[in-house]
Amino acid sequence: MSVILFIMDGLGDDDHRFRCNKAGRVRVGTPLSLSNTPRLDRLASEGVTGMLSVHGEGVVPESEDAHLRIFGYDPKSYLPGRGPLEALGAGLRLQEGDIAFRTNFATYVNGRIVDRRAGRIDTREAHRLGRIISNITIDGIRFIFKPTVEHRGVLVLRPGRSKKNKLTDKITGNDPEHYRVKYGKVRPIGRSYESKHTAEVINRYLELVHEKLSKSSINEKRKKKGLPVANYLLLRGPGRYRRIESIKKRYGLRAVCVAGAPLYKGVARYVGMKVVDVPGATGDKHTNLKNKIDEVNRLIKSGKYDLIFLHVKATDSFSHDGDCLGKTKFLEKIDRIMGPKLVRLSKEHDIIITGDHSTPCKLKQHSADPVPIMITGPEVTPDRVKTFNERSCSKGRLGVVSGDKMITIIRALLGRVE
Ligand code: ZN
Ligand code: ZN
Repeated sequence: MSVILFIMDGLGDDDHRFRCNKAGRVRVGTPLSLSNTPRLDRLASEGVTGMLSVHGEGVVPESEDAHLRIFGYDPKSYLPGRGPLEALGAGLRLQEGDIAFRTNFATYVNGRIVDRRAGRIDTREAHRLGRIISNITIDGIRFIFKPTVEHRGVLVLRPGRSKKNKLTDKITGNDPEHYRVKYGKVRPIGRSYESKHTAEVINRYLELVHEKLSKSSINEKRKKKGLPVANYLLLRGPGRYRRIESIKKRYGLRAVCVAGAPLYKGVARYVGMKVVDVPGATGDKHTNLKNKIDEVNRLIKSGKYDLIFLHVKATDSFSHDGDCLGKTKFLEKIDRIMGPKLVRLSKEHDIIITGDHSTPCKLKQHSADPVPIMITGPEVTPDRVKTFNERSCSKGRLGVVSGDKMITIIRALLGRVE
């Protein structure tokens, strides 16, 4: 028997007035309450429900800290910064002491960033440019760059053995939207030798990157076509990687992750989960839900895992776009494509369905509101709740569950705790 932990990112929402289909009348409710999701409702009616408040009342979660908490790691001591998580998610193997950033290809003209995304450069072109600027060593520090999707990528600095090359994440990024920086340079935070040294060596790398990219034939072609050139790298979310105790060692869980978006794969790798790459699982609105649930099914049948973490990102993306209808339709798609298999699996396995935080469409950002949660399985005694939404689940028998209880719940379902 295994536990499936299905997290729909930014699942929780607020009441809005909107048409839940293009022709329909205007109704008031949340995307979850107005969507037609018979299978999710059935799972809720056969299980026990409640509301999940990941960090407790009034605290607005980010996805990475919410997931860490749910997996049983206090983000106050374990959050390594976004850079290392994205780098792990992009498939880079990190070493203790590496510094990692998220990056954008950008357009730099006369000392100014004029396009933060280099015209959302095509992924293939970005990958060819990436080869020019990866594996560069400056003063014994190795720079490893990996492009991911469109203008996005990750950069890792590996210090090498020499003591004078000790690096720190006490530096700013150089992305003008996130930091008060001029001329696309990073700055030290504080006065330590490490901060100054790290900032200085990164700025030398950035200059070299600019020089190399400017000369590339890809950018020549882009210029001729009137497209913004990708001649600079913007960095943000610095973090220092350290190895932590795995979820297997800490909680005895053999865990595996089925996700599309790099951040979630990264968090999973960071806590020592196995991560499978599913074809078509893109982490966006066009992700292949069928392939993901088929993979979950296959992993369960293998009998190798206690915990299968399944993640879907698009619910949160629709919310950030303020698209209530899109979120509603996507929930219906989840129900239609993933629902039947989840119902079948719930006869033999335990399934937890919830979100990491609320992202109300009208706010277009995360909120501190709790998220509906349900636990269904062969031995779970149902409560009276018959539907899966914010209002019904707030009457569920679980009450308000705090994020740090989640790992205990998972272990209890597996019979590991009283
Ligand atoms: Zn999230
Ligand atoms: Zn979000």
